[in-house]
Amino acid sequence: MSESSTAIPTSIDPQRLRLTTEQATEGVLVGHRCKECDISVFGPAVFCQACSSSDLESIQFAGRGTLYSYTVVRVPPAGWPGRVPYVLGEVELPEGPHVLAEVIGLDEDEPTIGMTMELALENLAGADGETQLAVYKWRPAG
Ligand SMILES: [Zn+2]
Repeated sequence: MSESSTAIPTSIDPQRLRLTTEQATEGVLVGHRCKECDISVFGPAVFCQACSSSDLESIQFAGRGTLYSYTVVRVPPAGWPGRVPYVLGEVELPEGPHVLAEVIGLDEDEPTIGMTMELALENLAGADGETQLAVYKWRPAG
């Protein structure tokens, strides 16, 4: 148990990451699927961007995907709390959507396009220094 905080993390974005265990050690990416045209969207949606239907259902994604693209970020956005430089990966889910997140757990400095990635959660201290936030990242599938 960490001495800095014993708070149970909450999702940094509940419309994209739903935590599935009480200790927030696991979670799933969530989004919507259009019942008209079967296109899936990561995150919140009010209507389908492909066919404008509002007949959407909530879904959860499998938690794995293929690395589609990445960039090495050497100058992070203001307030970035993590490592620098870091790898920002764009992962294509089997359901269709692309999900941007930091890539962790790499053996090399840079990943390989097409490699299989899996969802990984990391905890981050909230701005008040007491709360903990669970953040979604990608890591090479083991
Ligand atoms: Zn649609």
